[in-house]
Amino acid sequence: MMMTTQVALTSCQDYEEAAVETSVRNLLDLLGGIGAFVHPGDSVLIKPNLLAPKPSGSAVNTHPAVVRAVLKQVLKAGGRPVIGDSPGLGSAKKNAVRCGIDKIARDLEVPIIEFRKSVLVGKAGKSGFPLELAEEALNANVIINLPKLKTHGQVLMTLGVKNMFGCVIGIRKAQWHLKAGVNRDAFAKMLVEIYTTLSPALTLMDGIVGMEGNGPGSGTPRPIGLLAASADAVALDAVIMHLMGMDPLRLPTLRSAKKLGVGEVSLNRIEILGEKAGKIGIRDFKWPESADLEWRIPDFVMKMLKSSLSAYPESDPTLCKQCEVCVKACPQQVIKIEGDHLRIDTRRCIRCFCCQELCPHGAMKTRQGWLLKRIKKRSL
Ligand code: SF4
Ligand code: SF4
Repeated sequence: MMMTTQVALTSCQDYEEAAVETSVRNLLDLLGGIGAFVHPGDSVLIKPNLLAPKPSGSAVNTHPAVVRAVLKQVLKAGGRPVIGDSPGLGSAKKNAVRCGIDKIARDLEVPIIEFRKSVLVGKAGKSGFPLELAEEALNANVIINLPKLKTHGQVLMTLGVKNMFGCVIGIRKAQWHLKAGVNRDAFAKMLVEIYTTLSPALTLMDGIVGMEGNGPGSGTPRPIGLLAASADAVALDAVIMHLMGMDPLRLPTLRSAKKLGVGEVSLNRIEILGEKAGKIGIRDFKWPESADLEWRIPDFVMKMLKSSLSAYPESDPTLCKQCEVCVKACPQQVIKIEGDHLRIDTRRCIRCFCCQELCPHGAMKTRQGWLLKRIKKRSL
């Protein structure tokens, strides 16, 4: 069978600038070189993961060495790059300063922009939810998507498709969570619709050091030594899941992509270039504690056993600084500070884990239902 979707892999063990530069160039050469994606004069939006004002060693944001290597390629091709994102916490500029991307941007004279204006581009497919995206992203000739390989409390992993959610501006992110409620597949479908609308020309993933456990904001850095790239972020995400020993269809975004006919999910129709997948396999990866089992359990069983099969956020009073970031971020407004502790109304909680994602002190932990805890010991 003819395979037209390609995913390029290369190993790269650390963030030493020259090594990352060589690896990124090799990766792009496997896909036809930077000229296959960027033409002279193109305005190019570089979209890293700039989730929070954390240092590069925390593995929260895309590493500056990867952003630098890609910027150098874009400049070499004659593109006009800007770096942009709309993070859940802080601002693109503030987070870029903290993680070191600001310094490389200044060195290369590339502006960092905040996404400020939302543009209604229609309804999100059958969901009918207004699809409002950053004008700056919609206006770019080319988008280069630079996700970080991380776990995610709500949708298991944040990889290539999910990274485009940063093109939804600030407060509107909460509205998307509210609209989807507890239904991960509904949220994943919206993510796929954002990805399809913006259609990044290239996705290049920073998996040199990824994040496992309670990602995407409070997990543990995990050295993996991988860079991956593709014109098809769906195919790239499928290959990453495969490398982690997981069926790609366990990722809600890939299930939705398959249903919507977006990208390539089937591994036997994806050509892997460069490093052999077997050489890179990611073993014993720690999944988020919040990953529950609802995607594998019939609705009626889930309803009966909901609290014992679900995971909820729970603050650790020894770490909580009562900063109220989670209180303000919660789309359901179910977090309250009462005296010296935080109370979460779990009956109304939609388990989006925005509170955990955005807690700047790593204080929002996960409480697993008793049955979930026992089953996960034997499965994930
Ligand atoms: S964001 Fe974190 S530290 Fe701040 S109040 Fe919430 S749990 Fe506490
Ligand atoms: S408490 Fe946390 S997980 Fe629950 S709805 Fe609010 S932000 Fe989402």
